[in-house]
Amino acid sequence: MHQFLPFAWFGGKCVPFAEATLSVATHALHYGTGAFGGMRALPNPSDSGEILLFRADRHARRLSQSARLLLTELSEDKIHQAIREFLRANKPTCPVYLRPFVYTSDLGIAPRLHDIETDFLIYGLELGDYLSPDGVSCRISSWTRQEDRSLPLRGKISGAYITSSLAKTEAVKSGFDEALLLNSRGKVSEASGMNLFLVRDGVLITPSVDQDILEGITRASVIELARAMGIEVLERPVDKSELFIADEVFLSGTAAKVTPVRQVESTELPLDRPLMAAIRERLTAITEGRDFAYDTWVTRIRVDG
Ligand code: PMP
Repeated sequence: MHQFLPFAWFGGKCVPFAEATLSVATHALHYGTGAFGGMRALPNPSDSGEILLFRADRHARRLSQSARLLLTELSEDKIHQAIREFLRANKPTCPVYLRPFVYTSDLGIAPRLHDIETDFLIYGLELGDYLSPDGVSCRISSWTRQEDRSLPLRGKISGAYITSSLAKTEAVKSGFDEALLLNSRGKVSEASGMNLFLVRDGVLITPSVDQDILEGITRASVIELARAMGIEVLERPVDKSELFIADEVFLSGTAAKVTPVRQVESTELPLDRPLMAAIRERLTAITEGRDFAYDTWVTRIRVDG
């Protein structure tokens, strides 16, 4: 069972987590007509009265855009303000994961996005490592990543996560840690909740945004950081066979951070991962507020006032 933060943001204010409950008839519960975010917040290791949020502006923008894709409005300002109040109420003392969620809160039965009530909530939970930082084994899923012509993939739309759930369970039940999904054109897309990178001959390669990926904020950060570190980065379609001959493969995401892939199907990958290690170290320093060159990526919120 997760350790949830004591207060949720619900109905426009902070209420005890146990009181943030919904009707069984809630429209989004039945139709997946919600969109969520996922952010990490951690107490500043050198100042416990301050909470550090990684790329809060990007997260707020993506959630606001996700709301727009669901034909509702949720401003970035409203998201920022709710997150601030949520953190001040909860005063987390360990690393936490925030889950903001915009959804059709109406009790109506017709699947639709017009003439419908929507709402916004946030809850949080304690979260350490989502995947083993030492490396994970991946299965290539029998499930195909959805296409943007069926569903807006640039939003984190709840309904889309049925495919992630099927793929993850298929992988775990067959003895793997994580699933890699191909898109409908047979190219590598992403994992169940992470983007994917590989290294070939010193070049960092990741599926481009036209490969039915979620435009991950960690992905964008890894690309920017790698380029600044002098590493060549290519965003292009990736073939399945490249995974087996790559020098390094790793996953990126808010929950997973940067996680190495140690095995794809039955192929063991090299244990020496210099690029992944350098990028991960840098990203960790940034998220912990120790790298002032990237201080603009970190939002600092005082919770002791
Ligand atoms: N792909 C999917 C399907 C995801 O759910 C996530 C997690 N949000 C990611 C990629 C990684 O995105 P981010 O780095 O923004 O967390």
